[in-house]
Amino acid sequence: MIIDTVCTYCGVGCDISFEIENGRIKKAFAKKEGLVSQGKLCIKGRKGWEYLYSPDRIKKPWIRKSFIEKNIDRFPEKIKRKLNTLTDLDSDFYESDLTLAVEITAWKLQDIKNLYGPHSIAGIGGARTSCESSYLFQKFIRKYIGSPHIDNCARVCHSPSLKGMRATIGEGAATNPFDDIYKAEFIIVIGSNTTEAHPIVANRIFDVVKKGTDIAVIDVRNIKLSRIAKYNCIIPFETNLMVLNMIAQVILEEELYNLDFIRKRTKGFEEYRDKILNDPYADPDFFKTVKGYEYLSDMIRDIAREYATKRSLILWGLGVTEHTDGSKAVMAISDLALLTGNIGKEGAGLMPLRGQNNVQGTCDMGCLPYFDPDYKEPDEIGLMTPDIIDGILEGKIKALYNIGEDIAHIHPNQNKIHRALKELEFLVVHELFPNEITGFADIVFGVKSAYEKEGVYINAERRLHLSQPVVASDLPDDWEILRDIAFELGFDVYYRSSEDVWNEVRKVANERFSGATYRKLKERRLEGIQWPVKKEGTEILHKDRFRTPDGYGYFRYNQWEYRGMVKDLIEGNDFVYLTTGRIGIHYNNAVQTKRCGSLIGKNSEDVLLLSLDDRDRFNNAERVILRSDYGESAPLKVVYSGDIKKGTAFVSFHHPESRINFLFGDESDSYVKTARFKSVKVKVIPVLRS
Ligand code: SF4
Repeated sequence: MIIDTVCTYCGVGCDISFEIENGRIKKAFAKKEGLVSQGKLCIKGRKGWEYLYSPDRIKKPWIRKSFIEKNIDRFPEKIKRKLNTLTDLDSDFYESDLTLAVEITAWKLQDIKNLYGPHSIAGIGGARTSCESSYLFQKFIRKYIGSPHIDNCARVCHSPSLKGMRATIGEGAATNPFDDIYKAEFIIVIGSNTTEAHPIVANRIFDVVKKGTDIAVIDVRNIKLSRIAKYNCIIPFETNLMVLNMIAQVILEEELYNLDFIRKRTKGFEEYRDKILNDPYADPDFFKTVKGYEYLSDMIRDIAREYATKRSLILWGLGVTEHTDGSKAVMAISDLALLTGNIGKEGAGLMPLRGQNNVQGTCDMGCLPYFDPDYKEPDEIGLMTPDIIDGILEGKIKALYNIGEDIAHIHPNQNKIHRALKELEFLVVHELFPNEITGFADIVFGVKSAYEKEGVYINAERRLHLSQPVVASDLPDDWEILRDIAFELGFDVYYRSSEDVWNEVRKVANERFSGATYRKLKERRLEGIQWPVKKEGTEILHKDRFRTPDGYGYFRYNQWEYRGMVKDLIEGNDFVYLTTGRIGIHYNNAVQTKRCGSLIGKNSEDVLLLSLDDRDRFNNAERVILRSDYGESAPLKVVYSGDIKKGTAFVSFHHPESRINFLFGDESDSYVKTARFKSVKVKVIPVLRS
């Protein structure tokens, strides 16, 4: 039997098919007619389902023993009577049946609400679950709990894309489908290691380069795409905004802009033009003063000329957003499209490559402190995740409800986060497997994975796919647990199926989803449909007007701030700057992928890349510890690489035991507090061989 569904790992969101024999998965593959996959899957798609058979799976709710002891005298009789049904799991947890775990969770949330008020409860969601669960989660926190504090994992990835794009073109989503890569004449890839993080999109780039399309790759190191780029534009750390402004200055100076488009479709051009032309850091010649990066002056001019005179796309990833000026850099990307008219048509536009499949959907569903579903204004703006953490430490937030987002591993400043999690009076977690955050939880609900349930997922090109169960599972879906707790809290909540929830989404978020029925999505399992969906979907946004209130695109100038690595280079200081990123084998915190034998066999630790030019400086050490102002890593295996420039370093962050995210502090995007994961100054301490 063959079952078609969607791969929910990365933001590409490939259609995926499973061959099932005797109720077990035999293999995963992609059908030739699959619109996103184009008949190919990356290794995570092909092998990333093996975790379904891992013995580590959380099969029943867990309740922390110390939590029971602390609350035993205060539990209502109804709960007390059932406590003898708890069974020992290990020294920390009991196992419970679902009904009792739901009753205890509801009672404790109500208790905290009564004692400290609803604003003492916060929710953090993740993109690993479906739109239905994300929708119900924000409703649960806002309506059933009464707190505005709801956020999701986009806080540590693409929130700056949402902010920067909405401020300029009114919509925080890709303007074109992935297949427009085939229609572009020139492509800029900035801050995206596409082959590792979005492999099936990278396939398209390899295809078009073979056929003669030129690409510019702007990154702080050599990546696989750099090797096929016409412009391998290696830049110093934290200079995205500067480089983008430089491209704009060349376009303005050489009058390569599209005046007709600017006049008809945009506002703020004159002010933007004057500021860019007078910005000393937007002059490409500035790089002539930066040792080792002098070649950038000419290269940036060439990139600007090609971008402005061709039908061009810009793709970006977390290398743009995870900085203190991430939102500003995204605005600068939009500015380039507005300047040249490279938007609103085939083969020209903007593509933020979202990290996980359904980051787009989780934001669309309103799991954000400043937006209701469909990006409508909420009644009250809540706290962003870093402020929730501060709120816990200040004693204002007493309970946290966390669905599929391991903030105890993949968020920054782990020393602080671990301290905060210990302070909580109540932590509820939905997870597939034990991980870092379950180590702090009072109640852990084991839930269905994406391959065991039905639900809508929205990929990085706004494409909705409907998943369906590939294997059977007795576990509840996230939304079912939320429904049951809400019911227990006294609300009339009667969703019978994920389709029931989705039908409500179609009414509440009607601007984007009114026409996206389950029936339509079932008919298009292998192709999906891009929002906004009325009768049909929408491939290209902003064709005639931007999605701002008045329909115009807005130029937003931001000056780059002189600092960091450039300052160190100009002043001749000694330094090592570290950036982090994913590798293709693993998914984020690797909670699933490390339980896939075929994947963990290929990578079981985070490996640090240091420059070959720094080998002597670090005594050719095979292992080193990294130390920043905030914390220390574990001893890391080193590979000295010609792909890394002197004074720079790269490491992945998939394995919690590497303690990579202990190295990052609170520095974050000035608008939306996305952490500066792409740059931290570190000391490299060789580990002496014993
Ligand atoms: Fe899954 Fe992404 Fe790989 Fe496609 S590219 S198979 S969505 S992990």
